Amino acid sequence: MLVRGDLLWRNAPDQPARWTKGEWLIGGEKIYATEETSCAPQWEGFIIPGMVDVHCHLAIGPEGPVDEDEQLGFAQATRDSGVLLVRDCGAPRSQEWITRRSDLPRLIRCGQHIARPKRYIRGLPVDVEDVASLPEVVAEQAAVGDGWVKLVGDWIDRSKGADADLDPLWPLEVLVDAVAAAHEAGALVAVHAFSHKVIDDLLEAGVDDIEHGSGMDADQLAQARAQGTVVTPTFLQVELFHEFAAQAGAKYPVYAATMQSMYDKRREHAELIIDSGVQLLPGTDAGGYQEHGCLVAELELWERAGMSLPDIIDTVTWKARAFLGAPSLYEGAPADFVVYEEDPRKDLSVLARPSAVVLGGVAV
Ligand SMILES: [Zn+2]
Repeated sequence: MLVRGDLLWRNAPDQPARWTKGEWLIGGEKIYATEETSCAPQWEGFIIPGMVDVHCHLAIGPEGPVDEDEQLGFAQATRDSGVLLVRDCGAPRSQEWITRRSDLPRLIRCGQHIARPKRYIRGLPVDVEDVASLPEVVAEQAAVGDGWVKLVGDWIDRSKGADADLDPLWPLEVLVDAVAAAHEAGALVAVHAFSHKVIDDLLEAGVDDIEHGSGMDADQLAQARAQGTVVTPTFLQVELFHEFAAQAGAKYPVYAATMQSMYDKRREHAELIIDSGVQLLPGTDAGGYQEHGCLVAELELWERAGMSLPDIIDTVTWKARAFLGAPSLYEGAPADFVVYEEDPRKDLSVLARPSAVVLGGVAV
């Protein structure tokens, strides 16, 4: 089978990908460069390695944990949006079955959210009663994931009544030990972080990936960049912060003010994140408030915040894949790619209209 067009190709697995005009052969589920032929191609157009969604909850729906039937629908919607690699970001149900399906996005699992009692959405996390046991729990979750664990870093602390705010869950010393335990178990650490308050501790503890990052200031972003901590912004989620503030209402005025303030500054804050040069990973947070398959809508907010289209496409395809240790398109790599009729570097909305989605050389 033959592919022809402009393809985001790496000449070697350790080289940057470049848009390359040419033809490629698909054989044995893999892709190979080839000389020009006169054969009719199976697929033609603008071709990218599948996009990545690193903050995707295939096992969570609007009402909470979902069974395999619903997981299947979510995985298909994600795949059909051009996302062919998912790093889960907290799953209350086993997703082992997804990893055995060749027609669904490749999945990197990260175990269950790790939180403290009443400090996250009910029914989703492993609740740690005694904070000192966090490193142990982290090691357990590392053992059931594929090299990632997910901590809840901050959440509203309702026990403070009217003074309740977004507050860190873990003392710094415990965080330091927990990150060390994860790394010892061969896992990286992603952390839910809405607030400004929690970020210094996360950076000091050396977590690998800050999710949301909606409270990070310029210094914290610079430090994250300097030490190689990546940030997964979720601008679609931040668009909902005024609703979270309204729901908290009169009962939790401090928390409501914190959320509203981040909402009010969201546009300039998005620009701050993009301008900081910190490595970004693409994430939708699909599963609770966002629908599965909405990555392009998230990326449109990246564009509005000033990121160029070629940069966005690089960041959400081969760069994210490289960070996760996953292949992209190079000689002999898995033939996982998405085809478009038009050039997505000229119009981001093209990404929402794949003409073909291919996994292991098979159109799905
Ligand atoms: Zn999430």
